[in-house]
Amino acid sequence: MIQVNPTPNAEAQPELNSQYDVIVIGGGPAGSTVAALTAEQGHDVLVLERAPFPRFHIGESLIPETYWTLERLGLLDRLKQSAFPKKFSVQFVSDGTKVSAPFYFDDHNPHESSQTWQIVRSDFDQMMLDNAKDKGATCHTSARVLDVIFDDAPLCPETGEPKGRATSVKVQLVNSAGEKETREITAKIIVDATGQSAFLATRLGLKKPDERLQKGTVWSYFKEAVRDEGRDEGATIIMQTEGKQSWFWYIPLPDDVVSVGCTGSMQYMFGNDRGTPEEIFQRELSRCPAMQDRLAPSERVADYLTTRDFSYRSQKAAGPGWMLIGDAFGFIDPVYSSGVFLALKSGELAADAIHDALQANNFSTEELSVWQPKYIEGLEMFRKLVYAFYTPGFSFGMFLKEHPQYRSNLVDLLVGDVFREGVGEIFDAMGEILPPSDRQPVITTT
Ligand SMILES: Cc1cc2nc3c(=O)[nH]c(=O)nc-3n(C[C@H](O)[C@H](O)[C@H](O)COP(=O)(O)OP(=O)(O)OC[C@H]3O[C@@H](n4cnc5c(N)ncnc54)[C@H](O)[C@@H]3O)c2cc1C
Repeated sequence: MIQVNPTPNAEAQPELNSQYDVIVIGGGPAGSTVAALTAEQGHDVLVLERAPFPRFHIGESLIPETYWTLERLGLLDRLKQSAFPKKFSVQFVSDGTKVSAPFYFDDHNPHESSQTWQIVRSDFDQMMLDNAKDKGATCHTSARVLDVIFDDAPLCPETGEPKGRATSVKVQLVNSAGEKETREITAKIIVDATGQSAFLATRLGLKKPDERLQKGTVWSYFKEAVRDEGRDEGATIIMQTEGKQSWFWYIPLPDDVVSVGCTGSMQYMFGNDRGTPEEIFQRELSRCPAMQDRLAPSERVADYLTTRDFSYRSQKAAGPGWMLIGDAFGFIDPVYSSGVFLALKSGELAADAIHDALQANNFSTEELSVWQPKYIEGLEMFRKLVYAFYTPGFSFGMFLKEHPQYRSNLVDLLVGDVFREGVGEIFDAMGEILPPSDRQPVITTT
């Protein structure tokens, strides 16, 4: 059952050394991935996670391409044995009522990687962190990083280029008796995986909001809502409301619970005294008959929760001795469920770069950002797809009627196959939907 405040484990915290090869700040999917894969290569890794675990988190729908990192992490069997609903497809409803045919992921690629899962994040993230521990990483929860310390000014004041090397972190540890202790711990490489806190990008002034996506969300959890059957039982359904000012997600979870959230522009959702989260949710629900039908027999089992202003990217992704992964580098939008996939992928790519850097004893920006141009290219595919989704008058149904040859290209993007050569061809056909380049955030990798 989903618990917004899960009871923390009573597990004892590990003794910490004063020095590690790698410190990972944040024990979410990105941090656990980089920690597990770096420790597996024989390096000394410390994860510092501020929350007691397990902890609640939004982000419950996976996309198929997570399969490959989960396979490398050795977690596929545990997922197959879990109670997480299997997800075979995504379906879109436009204008509150017009239901399109589902996009079945295996239509295009009949391999077991085309099936993925809807996850309860407290359980999934705990499993990921335990896996990092099993592979040899030291993981301390209730450990809030207060500062990252550089041996010189982190950025050159004139050019903004990375200058000083990140050498240590200052962390506040809380032990099982609730006693606090502040420590400084050094490392050759410091990985920021702090999610939306984007600790380093914020501290270094590198975090830039995506002006085109200033969204806000209200969501909750419902028991015994209408569910489809068979292969469709675990499908994500994305429903635009009438007038297309907002959209709902419907994500089936274990124990007959569904996660239902509504996203629109911050101004539209929350501006000018728009009411309580419940009033906002109900107002949008009244514009979405298809979701009303699904929720009619259900009972709400959690409070309404909100989040906003979550679309941003850092202008740099690495500097001497530091790198950013997952949401700590950037987050686009919830609509295509790309967040956990990108967290895992960046964690995996970063782990390989860290291994090479440690072997070469080279912690320069160049060495630590070697994986990033390709990663950013893939991430930007999702951004373009998100821009298309929010473009007034655009619908994928209409687009595919005019350009049926792009159906499998679109499915490639929806499953997360965004790093393949040529996968961006669909955007040539979308032409005018894409943003002028001067409105995209300016990002450099060096
Ligand atoms: C409304 C909404 C809906 C979403 N839905 C989906 C979805 O359906 N599917 C999907 O894939 N993604 C979704 N996402 C995105 C998803 O939640 C994130 O992309 C994903 O959690 C990123 O993982 P991460 O490891 O980078 O960060 P996180 O999971 O946020 O982990 C970061 C960790 O760092 C810790 N931390 C922060 N600061 C410090 C500090 N100073 N010291 C120590 N630890 C610290 C935090 O406690 C946290 O545990 C959604 C996002 C939003 C906003």
